[in-house]
Amino acid sequence: MYGKMKNHLAEELQNIEAAGLYKRERIITSPQKANITVEGREGKVLNFCANNYLGLSDHPRLIEAAKKAMDERGYGMSSVRFICGTQDIHKELEKAISNYFHTEDTILYAACFDANGGVFEPMFTEEDAIISDSLNHASIIDGVRLCKAKRYRYANADMADLERCLQEAQAQRFRIVVTDGVFSMDGNVAPMDQICALAEKYDALVMVDECHSAGVVGQTGRGVSEQFDCYGKIDIYTGTLGKAFGGAIGGFTTGRKEIIELLRQRSRPYLFSNSIPPAVVGASLEVFEMLAESNELHDQLVENVQYFRTKMIEAGFDIKPTQSAICAVMLYDAKLSQDFAAKMIEEGIYVTGFYYPVVPKDQARIRVQLSAGHNREDLDQAIAAFIKVGKELKVIK
Ligand SMILES: *Cc1c(COP(=O)(O)O)cnc(C)c1O
Repeated sequence: MYGKMKNHLAEELQNIEAAGLYKRERIITSPQKANITVEGREGKVLNFCANNYLGLSDHPRLIEAAKKAMDERGYGMSSVRFICGTQDIHKELEKAISNYFHTEDTILYAACFDANGGVFEPMFTEEDAIISDSLNHASIIDGVRLCKAKRYRYANADMADLERCLQEAQAQRFRIVVTDGVFSMDGNVAPMDQICALAEKYDALVMVDECHSAGVVGQTGRGVSEQFDCYGKIDIYTGTLGKAFGGAIGGFTTGRKEIIELLRQRSRPYLFSNSIPPAVVGASLEVFEMLAESNELHDQLVENVQYFRTKMIEAGFDIKPTQSAICAVMLYDAKLSQDFAAKMIEEGIYVTGFYYPVVPKDQARIRVQLSAGHNREDLDQAIAAFIKVGKELKVIK
């Protein structure tokens, strides 16, 4: 039976390769952090492509807390939450997340992919409308597909287009506007103040996916509600424990209590998938403890972003404006972005080049992700490498 399928798959794989879209994984042989070692390369590489925004991936306090939780609560939960997969620490973590976002209640998932996959279907039917930003994450797109609501799509952060969708969707029973907080390719922040104002005008709920924004944007990194002062106006937040908040695994939905209560009853990835393990819960509790104690990590991140951007602009690079920790160094040409990234790794700097179809045609770029874990020398080394390669490839003078 497999013979025909095997040939078909081999052909598909060849097509992926021929289109230059084949993804090869680099093997890291150290903990995830600013300085990593990778297979096939001597010495350290500086990592500028992890979502390790607060530098917590290898933080000793988290490792200690994970070990302690494992000692006290064991290794695995062997259950979904509602049968016998809820420990006291799972409830504590949900409370800590609600405190952080100033929300009423929180529900944990195995990943934010699941949070987004399980949020729409329990709440919305064919009578309703979901109005989604065109650059929203794949997991939002999939979540919307799993529900029968009417779909509307507006151009990225385009408020006139959102307003058009809201007007068209007035016939539906309920409407919800859904957006990423920070968009991962440009690093732009969704204009939440304007989105909330339009939602109010046209009687819609608001949902934001805070995966790249929580821990990063806002005066103390509390995310988009802090940045735009729209506390109380956002009904649903989804987020991940796999980026700024330690980088392990786990996701959550936080917001209005009736919504969270309904999700506990009806959300399929919650009802039919395992509980997150005690070690991750314990370490995540420590993350929120640390962020409550001090703003040091977030301040460091902001300082690093500002330093990097200023130096890169001074050097003549074309950088997309951003208020997040994602910095898009625009090269426009697809091949140039790949050559540039390859030369950067030779210089010991690990960055990724993105081009069509991941970003629009002629919008190829190098994406740099900054972290509180980078020190000044790391940043200077990366900037020096950008300048060297930029001159070699005639991107800058
Ligand atoms: C990373 C990401 C996700 C998925 O999060 P996981 O917890 O890794 O599943 C969802 N939405 C956005 C916007 C993301 O950036």
